[in-house]
Amino acid sequence: MTSVNRQVRLAKRPVGRPDDSTWEITTEPVPVPGDGQFTVRVHYVSLDPAMRGWLNDVRSYVPPVGIGEVMRAHAVGRVHASKNEKYAVGQLVSGHFGVCDYAVSDGTDVLVVDEELAPAPAWLGALGFPGMTAYFGLLDVGRMKAGETVLVSGAAGAVGSLVGQIAKLNGCRVIGIAGGPEKCSWLTDELGFDIAIDYKSESVGRALHAAAPEGIDIYFDNVGGEILNSALACLRRGSRVVLCGAISGYNATDPQPGPSRYLSLLVNRASMSGFIVFDYLERFPEAMAAMSEWIRRGLIVTREQVETGGIEAFGRTLTMLFDGANTGKLVLRMNEG
Ligand code: NDP
Repeated sequence: MTSVNRQVRLAKRPVGRPDDSTWEITTEPVPVPGDGQFTVRVHYVSLDPAMRGWLNDVRSYVPPVGIGEVMRAHAVGRVHASKNEKYAVGQLVSGHFGVCDYAVSDGTDVLVVDEELAPAPAWLGALGFPGMTAYFGLLDVGRMKAGETVLVSGAAGAVGSLVGQIAKLNGCRVIGIAGGPEKCSWLTDELGFDIAIDYKSESVGRALHAAAPEGIDIYFDNVGGEILNSALACLRRGSRVVLCGAISGYNATDPQPGPSRYLSLLVNRASMSGFIVFDYLERFPEAMAAMSEWIRRGLIVTREQVETGGIEAFGRTLTMLFDGANTGKLVLRMNEG
């Protein structure tokens, strides 16, 4: 067990893709909890495309990570020392602990992890923010109804793979867009998607037209860019576009052009709504109950890709998201335990 606390801090705001110069690793003594606090030894951190946005000095839904600050991250760890009677030493918990070996918490937004239900990394995936994002994005923002045709991009990723499975469970026809034959086979053969389109080897527009000649009712957008444009061209009357993310432009250095096919929203009396999962915090128990039940009954496949290398590997693991090098939820193992 490390006797110091290593932390990944933001050294420099990246222009374009983050690289080694973006981060610095600092070392401090292991923190001691004050009254009402506890210390967590971090075992797994979540890698999220949103992290790239948090590095930009712009107004957003959360303040940017400051230069010199510990990188913000959702994580799972074990209570190491406690002066808070609700959290006992040895308990496994999840929370916004950051990219570090040890974090201090007062229990705000901390969840006790039930390893009997699912192993620790799944609490950063289906039972973490990606699961909540898929659930509320599809059911609340997308207002999904049985029998509809749902299209999802980034379909083999953490959020997309759950969106497609929740839609299938609820009686929809599901088309997924993902990069590469392995990801596409996983979607159709193991997750039960009806059709998978490999955007790296086929024309999304043509493939979509063939897969849904009548059009789509919901487009759950994780990637933006040209794929969003192709989806807009296939909308049905009354359809909903759920604007969850636009990873294709997160490292862009120039302003990204808007979708030229946006008038399809008008023609089809369609809507396009953005959302932020944090706005649903009060309703998380509802989604957690549903996800837990689906997992317990084996109705949802959860997949995490756990990378090793510890804290030193944080920077290169983050960029895997932009290379499509993950299937399911990307997680970094920080410390054993
Ligand atoms: P993923 O696990 O889906 O990982 C990212 C995936 O994006 C990659 O594996 C890659 O898959 C795909 N990708 C990368 N670059 C491109 C590109 N240029 N064009 C198309 N696809 C690309 O990440 P998450 O599931 O965690 O996040 C998915 C989206 O949801 C992100 O946009 C994220 O910002 C957003 N999000 C939004 C939230 C909200 O509250 N609105 C909350 C959580 C996430 P492939 O191999 O298929 O290219």
